Amino acid sequence: MNRGSKAVCVFCGSQFGKNPVFAQAAQLLGQGMGKRGWSLVYGGGDLGLMGVVAKSCISHGCKVVGVIPKFLDDAELVHPDLHELVVVEAMYERKRVMEERSDAFCVFPGGFGTLDELFEFVALLQLKQHSKPIILFNPQGFFDPLLLQIKHMMEQGFIQEKYKKLFHTASSVEEVFSILEGL
Ligand code: AMP
Repeated sequence: MNRGSKAVCVFCGSQFGKNPVFAQAAQLLGQGMGKRGWSLVYGGGDLGLMGVVAKSCISHGCKVVGVIPKFLDDAELVHPDLHELVVVEAMYERKRVMEERSDAFCVFPGGFGTLDELFEFVALLQLKQHSKPIILFNPQGFFDPLLLQIKHMMEQGFIQEKYKKLFHTASSVEEVFSILEGL
């Protein structure tokens, strides 16, 4: 993996969530990426945590690439200050472009869209269809119920032991950076 400048693809909520810690962490992520001269690849929106990450990255000097499907390419939803906006036909194509343009994935709290993105790339990693690291950012145990479900699926024989470490987890933004820097 690229040891110098990295492009990090961030998946996160199009809502803010109820805990202000999530937006604070999103802000810190952008700040840390700017300090390191990294770039952001993300869904292109200006909403919720997505907007916070993008805004923070832009204000800290990161290059920001939005990848958006045509049906979401609405001037009111797209972040106005992106350095590059890639408009694609469909969601599956968007994921392909996001993977091509990034060195690693970082998943922040979110809803169905975020879960879809997380598991798309975890399933593809399991099938060796890509080899990019995935970091699940788990502030204040937000994803604990999901991790418990995965453990249950392992215990029930649906996820093999060898896939236990398919993705990293981090409970602080500093930990996210130390994982990314160690890759
Ligand atoms: P959700 O977790 O359901 O809020 O969905 C957020 C994820 O889905 C993000 O990582 C985006 O890539 C994608 N997404 C959802 N809504 C939008 C939107 N309005 N504009 C751009 N991307 C979106």
